[in-house]
Amino acid sequence: MRLASEVATVELGWARGSACFEDGWISLEQSEFYTVSVLDTESVLLAFLRVGDADTAVAFAERFGLLQNRADRELLSNWLLEVMTLNLTIALYAALEDARAGDVSTLPAVLAMHRKLSPRIADLEQPGETDVQSADLLMTGWLNTRLRDIALLVIPNDVLPPGAPMPFVFGAVPNTLLDVIWLELARSITAHDRMRYCALCGKPFFTKGTRARFCSASCANRDRQRRFVARKKAQRVTTTSDVDAG
Ligand SMILES: [Zn+2]
Repeated sequence: MRLASEVATVELGWARGSACFEDGWISLEQSEFYTVSVLDTESVLLAFLRVGDADTAVAFAERFGLLQNRADRELLSNWLLEVMTLNLTIALYAALEDARAGDVSTLPAVLAMHRKLSPRIADLEQPGETDVQSADLLMTGWLNTRLRDIALLVIPNDVLPPGAPMPFVFGAVPNTLLDVIWLELARSITAHDRMRYCALCGKPFFTKGTRARFCSASCANRDRQRRFVARKKAQRVTTTSDVDAG
């Protein structure tokens, strides 16, 4: 049964608005309603992976909102822990890709980081298990823990984006923005997208092709500008030295 590719994602109605940071908490000061979908071209996952301090967290909340709908404020420390868990899960996926392609050099170090983060993981490992088997179970464990509150429903295709092939499809219904983020990661992984690190900002991103070097159009543009400026500078130096020589 090929289920993964047939699961559609239903949009989530969510609140965002001006946000602030105080005493460790990120709060929404105002809120406007918008809809967010895993199928959007704008990646909520990649935007969230850029959160690293109060300023970037406030910027994320203004663009997308808070992660869960339990309260009107959330602890920055919880956000940073979530970013770390996502990054470690992505690192594990990348190391598994390498291991399956014959390069087993990165997997032991990534596994060690996971065991350190969650000591219970070591208890679950069976004697004789290979690193790849441990890593497979570990990665599905992280994903499935985060996906367990997402409902799987049968939905008519008139609530889906145009072009849906069947009158009824399975649909994953996220309840929170955090669900959207983990669902996006799960979709990339089950679609066998390749994980890469951006040549400019160093953040991870997923791609179908083998040639993509940048996480976003903005990083690709910045790189193009940087190379343009470097070339102009090099030309100026050459021209100046030509003048000096003459
Ligand atoms: Zn980038």
